[in-house]
Amino acid sequence: MYSPKVGDGLESLDTPSMIVDLDVMEANIKKLMDRLLPTGRNIRPHLKTTKSAIIAKRLVATGAKGGCVAKLSEAEAITAAGFTDLLITCEVVGPAKVKRLVELFRKHRGLRIVIDSQVAATAINDALDKSGIEDPIAVLIDLDVGLHRTGAQPSEALPLARHIGGLKHLRLIGVQGYEGHLQHLHDFEDRKKQCLESMKILTETAQALKNEGFNIEVVTTGGTGTADFCATVPGVTELQPGSFIFMDTDYRNAIGTYYSHSLSLLATVISKQGERQVTIDTGLKSLTTDSGLAECKDTRYTYGQLGDEHGSLKWEEGTPALSIGDRVEMIPSHIDPTVNLHDFYYAYRNGVIEEIWPVDSRGKVQ
Ligand code: PLP
Ligand code: MN
Repeated sequence: MYSPKVGDGLESLDTPSMIVDLDVMEANIKKLMDRLLPTGRNIRPHLKTTKSAIIAKRLVATGAKGGCVAKLSEAEAITAAGFTDLLITCEVVGPAKVKRLVELFRKHRGLRIVIDSQVAATAINDALDKSGIEDPIAVLIDLDVGLHRTGAQPSEALPLARHIGGLKHLRLIGVQGYEGHLQHLHDFEDRKKQCLESMKILTETAQALKNEGFNIEVVTTGGTGTADFCATVPGVTELQPGSFIFMDTDYRNAIGTYYSHSLSLLATVISKQGERQVTIDTGLKSLTTDSGLAECKDTRYTYGQLGDEHGSLKWEEGTPALSIGDRVEMIPSHIDPTVNLHDFYYAYRNGVIEEIWPVDSRGKVQ
């Protein structure tokens, strides 16, 4: 049976396989911590990128406090894998999900959730009321700071806080405002300016709630493209970057190379198509395309999408030809949904597999 092991060389891996260069990953973590820890902010990395309890623990060992997940089912998987200090950053809405939330909260009282409507707050409170659980759940009001995806409008924050304040099973601890529309702005000054505008909305709303006597200990925000700016804003207490750990070509094109590509997809040349084109075994089932096509790590070879299972690599005359059986590394264009396509990470140093990590919350989109 095929079962790659720690100590094996990368050449023993079948393809496509997701491989992580540990030296580069560790350098990315150190770069982030070196920049952000001295600002006194709490780092709560978003695990929508890594989907891994092992990596979450490693981040905590280097200075992070807790983690974020996007969805409730991710929280189920990551807690089951042994990491429990989680903020769920998407709204928990609908009877099935609320039921699952109550069951998860029964096991893990440290869970934090976000709420952007009175109707969702009431539903969660009512379900907890029936559950017999005495402890209230920690709640953050999700605010729209310009992304227009989720989040209450700033003008709705006070009525929502009052509503939550009247619900016995909810304990308001802060606000979340995620400026996702700014992460990939290429112009540094523009990204900074717009980020500071979003932070103004977030921190002024937080202050307004505090002025009314509400408990706002946590003001959480930021991603890989903005965390540095968010960390300069008084009132921001927590940062949620995710992609920095592996990076992708979309982020590199936008924010540059401060963080390096630590993850790639190992692929095999399976067919030759003429003098300067081969076919490799990665297609859209193994590399996502929403942010453009992946790139070959060796930039002399240009990737083209051929379908579900296949891609092409082409090169200019004079470039060494690729042959059947050759291996190449592909750099994903969008890391989060690409990781979601794979079962395992093979983490290596000097060509040798040092650790194998499951993608715990792979496919957990509910
Ligand atoms: N916080 C929230 C709420 C997000 O949705 C995301 C990503 O989509 C992040 C943080 C992390 O952002 P990034 O992976 O760009 O660092
Ligand atoms: Mn993403």
